Amino acid sequence: MVKDRYPVLAEMEDNLAVVQTRNWGTIGGNVCHGDPAADPPGVFIALNAKYRIMGSKGERTVNAEDFYKDLLEVDLGHDEILCEVQIPVMPKNSGAAQDKLMIQKGDMGIVGAAAFVKVNPGTGVCEDARIALTNVTTVPFRAKGSEKALIGKVVDEKILEEAGVIASREVDPPADVHGSEEYRRDMARVFVKRVTAKALERARQSN
Ligand SMILES: Cc1cc2nc3c(=O)[nH]c(=O)nc-3n(C[C@H](O)[C@H](O)[C@H](O)COP(=O)(O)OP(=O)(O)OC[C@H]3O[C@@H](n4cnc5c(N)ncnc54)[C@H](O)[C@@H]3O)c2cc1C
Repeated sequence: MVKDRYPVLAEMEDNLAVVQTRNWGTIGGNVCHGDPAADPPGVFIALNAKYRIMGSKGERTVNAEDFYKDLLEVDLGHDEILCEVQIPVMPKNSGAAQDKLMIQKGDMGIVGAAAFVKVNPGTGVCEDARIALTNVTTVPFRAKGSEKALIGKVVDEKILEEAGVIASREVDPPADVHGSEEYRRDMARVFVKRVTAKALERARQSN
């Protein structure tokens, strides 16, 4: 069912660690750990998911994109737990995709990106777009400038490149043994372009 309705989630899981890690790791633990390189938060932000949180004072719902406050710091009180991830139904003529830069399959992403797009089936115009990047700053990053570059346009190669370039300028990536700041910026460009193209292809094929 997940593969059928949200293929992007299956796609993400396929590259998330190895089967042993996936067997004991939980989505809740992944989301609440607040690791900026984690894959699910980027996809959840792109899909406009909400987190349902319960605590001693009751329950509340937080947009996935507002949940991440700083490196390993999330909007969660000491007496609260995440109990549900609510993902909206994918609208008609929409598609989503996720990918990340890995040295080998299952590695944490050196840079990751997830995109959701909705297209008008008649005109081909992009009506909605949400793009999120991981491991490009201290929290999962929503690439609003890139989204703006897509919405209202019939997206072609030039616009995809523009969206990627905007993302590469907006991010504030760390430098470490896996990649310099410049390299990560360029990979942000590459992966925004790549996942958006794939999401568009899926949107155009969906009905
Ligand atoms: C070898 C390895 C490879 C990995 N590769 C990837 C990868 O490629 N991509 C990726 O995204 N992740 C990757 N991870 C991270 C992994 O997916 C898990 O997210 C991580 O290990 C934590 O999962 P856990 O369920 O054990 O959480 P825990 O370690 O149990 O919890 C993490 C934190 O969240 C809190 N917490 C847990 N559940 C909840 C809840 N429901 N409500 C509130 N707080 C909660 C805990 O108190 C703790 O502070 C990898 C991990 C390892 C060890």
